[in-house]
Amino acid sequence: MDLLDEMQTRIVCGDGAIGTLLLDAGIPLDRCFEELCFTEPDRIQTIHQQYIAAGARVIETNSFGANAVRLERFGLERRVTEINRAAAQVAVKAARGKDVYVAGSVGPLGINGEGAKARGIDRGQCFREQISALLEGGVQIIFFETFTDFEEMEIALLAKKEIGAALEICSFSCTPEGRVSSGMPLIDAFSELREDGARIVALNCMSGPDMVQLLRRVPSGSAVAAYPSAGHPKYHEGRFVYPLAPDSFAQSAREMAAAGARLIGGCCGTNPKYIAAVAAAIADLETARKSP
Ligand SMILES: [Zn+2]
Repeated sequence: MDLLDEMQTRIVCGDGAIGTLLLDAGIPLDRCFEELCFTEPDRIQTIHQQYIAAGARVIETNSFGANAVRLERFGLERRVTEINRAAAQVAVKAARGKDVYVAGSVGPLGINGEGAKARGIDRGQCFREQISALLEGGVQIIFFETFTDFEEMEIALLAKKEIGAALEICSFSCTPEGRVSSGMPLIDAFSELREDGARIVALNCMSGPDMVQLLRRVPSGSAVAAYPSAGHPKYHEGRFVYPLAPDSFAQSAREMAAAGARLIGGCCGTNPKYIAAVAAAIADLETARKSP
């Protein structure tokens, strides 16, 4: 059974943020988090293991910004393959012997189409380079997350299709009203991606209540994932604070499940406590569904 089959039969628990835990551990915000996959693999492996112990059945690699454009800020643009392979390998190691899927995290490049053209950057090639290395490292799924631009998502999805048949999750962070950055309605973006072959569509890095409203508009029967943040962040004493506690977060996970989400994890501000609360909420829902 693959993740997609499983999502037809039950609600699956994803993992939570990695960056939030690294910041909490004192890693400075200006550090390249993805580089830690090979400079401090044990630290990253421990985070994956904490999420698995909390009940996550899908874990995501620490590779969100590991594309050539973003790594250039750290002078690491020639190490895309090395970093992504290491990110995949450390997650695969954490999942070994467990009933857990490993998804390779791929974020946006951080430049728009005009910026890419002006700098002579082939966006498709940037995505192919990252995705190839994640697949070589052993991930089963490619998780495109926090995309705001439909065109960039389509470029990324087509790049993945050229490389392999691995399952893909295409996740947007959109406006609370449900529009991606070109102004395109989210529902149209989802249906066009499905025509392009996307098997799981998703929302992430938004507040739970906003997500619930949007999920209700998605046609039923679609494979949909939801990875909300722990509420709207507030800036306090030099850092972002997320207001939602794990039990309220789990309550919004229940509402997301009722609105059709079949894979539920967490984004910014979440940690293994939030995922443990979500895993328990999902287990309750499944028990309720099965009993007559
Ligand atoms: Zn986020």
